[in-house]
Amino acid sequence: MRKTVIISLDAMYEKDMEAVKEDSFLGRWMKEAAVCTKVKTVFPALTYPAHTTLVTGCDPDQHGVGQNQPFQPDKQPDMRAWYWQASEVHRESLFDAVKKQGGRCASILWPVTGKHPSLKWGFPEVVALPGENQVLKMLEYGTPLWVLLMELKHGRKRVSSKEPHLSDYAVVLAEDLIRIRQPELLAVHLVDLDDMRHHHGLNSREAYEAMERNQRRVEKIWQAMQDTPGMEDALLVVLSDHGQADVSRTVHLGDVLKAAGLEGCVQVQSNGMSAYLFGADPEKAAQAESWLRENGASCGVSHVYSRGELDKLGCIPEPAFAVEAAPEVVFSDGLPQAKREKATHGFGPGHPAENCLLMIRGRGISPARMDSMPMRDVAPTLAGLMGVSLPDAQGVDHSAEIVE
Ligand SMILES: [Zn+2]
Repeated sequence: MRKTVIISLDAMYEKDMEAVKEDSFLGRWMKEAAVCTKVKTVFPALTYPAHTTLVTGCDPDQHGVGQNQPFQPDKQPDMRAWYWQASEVHRESLFDAVKKQGGRCASILWPVTGKHPSLKWGFPEVVALPGENQVLKMLEYGTPLWVLLMELKHGRKRVSSKEPHLSDYAVVLAEDLIRIRQPELLAVHLVDLDDMRHHHGLNSREAYEAMERNQRRVEKIWQAMQDTPGMEDALLVVLSDHGQADVSRTVHLGDVLKAAGLEGCVQVQSNGMSAYLFGADPEKAAQAESWLRENGASCGVSHVYSRGELDKLGCIPEPAFAVEAAPEVVFSDGLPQAKREKATHGFGPGHPAENCLLMIRGRGISPARMDSMPMRDVAPTLAGLMGVSLPDAQGVDHSAEIVE
């Protein structure tokens, strides 16, 4: 089995390659890597569905993670749980495939890997809800002894648990694992850029600074791999989950439908630049759908996805239909942060920010430039390169195209 380190640079996408200069670290590093800059993200373009597709090779309708959060209309926004637990993923992932073949896996802030039975080292992406304790939650969802050991060894280096400090700490943990444990699979999720874009805008100074920081983080991890016997031949995979777009107008779809006399026909779950509409009564849901088809343009809706369209997109089966936001529009279902966001994602196919990155470097990998591929192709391709089996994957294995 070939050792592999995966780094996800959340919210980096094809257009950012213009800013990755020839003389920058990533610019130089990727010249020797197999690269695809058109990995088409999932629908909706959200972090948790995309990251689950990246490791299972399945679309959301198969792996079951169709949003960052389960639909919880009865709970206040700040009381809503996210998809934190591995048991919520319905298909085998690369972590399971590696463990089955005797490998040891580590996840640092990789979404939906809490309490993962295939992880030897897990530092989970979980957030304490009001009344909960963040440290206890990390211990409960992660690998408690290892998380504690890391806290004692490196905890003082963490300036805060917010960005950019959390991503810096993730890299400290990754370097420690590479240098001391040499895991067969290490997956690291860095949220810095996504966070800066949400708060400051797509092309803000803060976003470019985050991109610079991410390049230095990749360099540190690559350097740790080169320095460590047993890791120098490992693959380093740098990839992403979605881009973003600037937004300036918030539309409360629930209020719009209420004003149209359609209250109670459907319930809204915002995906940012799209929204799911759930309806227990098919007739009432169809009423809301046809009203939005006729009047949506006046309330920030650019497209209505029928259930048939959603099936073709690999969308989870629960929503009756879905809507896409017009440019600059973000949908709200009451989440307070929607009002503060300067940029976001959650859009559907064809959006300019749908093209994600995949760069793979290591001995024997050719510096090929790969054609566009759906995100579900990433996991089987990595499984092919690593020499592990991922039978559940729906995607295509492209590993033969990039092996020298
Ligand atoms: Zn993301």
